[in-house]
Amino acid sequence: ESVFYEPQHPYTWGLLGSMPRIDREQTDRLIPVKGNPPSLINVPSGCAFNPRCPYADVPKGGITRTRRPELTLAGERHYSACHMSQEERTRIWTEEIAPKL
Ligand code: SF4
Repeated sequence: ESVFYEPQHPYTWGLLGSMPRIDREQTDRLIPVKGNPPSLINVPSGCAFNPRCPYADVPKGGITRTRRPELTLAGERHYSACHMSQEERTRIWTEEIAPKL
């Protein structure tokens, strides 16, 4: 439930945004996660999602491209690996992502 109702990672937001809804009339096209999955033999440096992440520039200093984020607890038995603070992710989810789903 925490992953669906309080997702803490931009990739999860992308997956939820590209998911068909059977409880609503479909008026707009689904929004796919941009780009392609990374090569598993040439994984991008830093956060592996950074070439596709719309929020890659939010953490300061280009850290998303140089340092792999560590898994941190984001809720009860819910972990996330992202350089944005949990407060920032919660704000983006609440104000920008969830209202559009
Ligand atoms: S660490 Fe940066 S690139 Fe990776 S998911 Fe978080 S914001 Fe996006």
